[in-house]
Amino acid sequence: PRPCVILGGGVAAYGAAEALRAAGYDGPVTLVSAEPVVPYDRPALSKAFLQGQKTAEEILLKPPEHYQRLGIELRLGQRATAVDLDRRELVLEPGERLPFAVLLIATGAEPVRLRLPGFDLPGVRYLRSLADAQALREDLSRAERVLVVGCGFIGAEVAASARMLGKQVTVVDPLPVPLAGPLGEEVGGILAEVHRRHGIELRLGQKVAELRGHRSVEEAVLESGERIACDLVVVGVGVRPAVALFQGSGLQIENGILVDEHCATGVPGVYAAGDVANWWHPAIGRRLRVEHFDNAAQQGAAAARAIAGDPQPYAPVPYFWSDQFDLNLQYAGYPGPWDQVVLRGDKAAPSVTAFYLRQGVVEAVVTINRPRELRPGRRLVEAQARVDPAVLADPSTDLRAL
Ligand code: FAD
Repeated sequence: PRPCVILGGGVAAYGAAEALRAAGYDGPVTLVSAEPVVPYDRPALSKAFLQGQKTAEEILLKPPEHYQRLGIELRLGQRATAVDLDRRELVLEPGERLPFAVLLIATGAEPVRLRLPGFDLPGVRYLRSLADAQALREDLSRAERVLVVGCGFIGAEVAASARMLGKQVTVVDPLPVPLAGPLGEEVGGILAEVHRRHGIELRLGQKVAELRGHRSVEEAVLESGERIACDLVVVGVGVRPAVALFQGSGLQIENGILVDEHCATGVPGVYAAGDVANWWHPAIGRRLRVEHFDNAAQQGAAAARAIAGDPQPYAPVPYFWSDQFDLNLQYAGYPGPWDQVVLRGDKAAPSVTAFYLRQGVVEAVVTINRPRELRPGRRLVEAQARVDPAVLADPSTDLRAL
């Protein structure tokens, strides 16, 4: 039996661990994670966990005994610091060598750090891990004025959670609306309105120039010169695939680790899945790297099936969700650019479905508080359907009939 090492402790690693055994892989399997806990529901960190509705225990995907039952050895709190793909071994902190025949890289992504003046002050936080979330929750319990830098998903969700905890919250982002990149201006504008209505101060189209403070952060200065008092700063300006370990290892790296539709790298027996993987999507004929939970879980499982000798092309319509205040957003589709966005519903409520079209083809669908339209919308994306925009926009159109 060939020993398999799963490197990473996120949901891609979890999906792989489950699927390896389900697909009948009976060799030794070791899961190595730099984090001291078994894989957990990372999306909950900025939502239920930060709001104090769930404990660390309650967000574990499965308890540690589950891995024991699967016969999977856990190496938690052990970071891999070097890899040799020719000798087929990893070096783990503090120096132990771990051999493998098969390696699945599921190292995920890491927050981009801002290198502006003052961002090294105490009171500046990033959010990726449970440890980050625990520290942030602690800080939030004492903070009164929170500044969120960056209004992507993490920024928007942290801002909403902090506001729900009764904090004064200001969000700064250089783009004109929240989530302008993934959702476009019109849909982003709906989210901006929801945040404003809940009392969040938005400074959109603006950049932070520096943070100031003595023992801890006290104020932010924007490029416009505006000064914003704050005692806690949360930065959410995007993530990068965690590939540092593999630079120079012989793997092809370009916006993540390049893999084919079976999650295989160019090196035999080495696979990658989740946020770290930039894969060839056979149904659309281009590469994608997706930074969302569902993809990581499914792709981890797809890699495991390939490792177990039952490869099936991995060609999903990517899916993700976000919760902010009482707003539920779901997205199914491919990333832009699009040339047309078609909305149906009521922007003020909001209760909206948006279709993103490229050359007349439905490339993505977003539902805001209209979860029932996601499934028929997703089907249109899957079918690469061409639908008259006027028909999509017409509220009397039954999407299931298209
Ligand atoms: P990760 O979850 O990043 O896991 C990577 C693991 O590898 C970590 O445990 C890390 O410590 C470990 N690791 C890295 N390098 C090493 C090394 N050298 N040695 C040992 N271990 C290593 N997605 C959604 O779809 N919906 C949401 O609502 C949503 N909300 C989110 C909220 C937050 C706060 C965050 C941070 C993310 C959210 N996401 C959401 C994104 C989603 O969580 C990620 O897409 C998903 O976690 C990716 O899983 P992964 O297993 O590929 O990587």
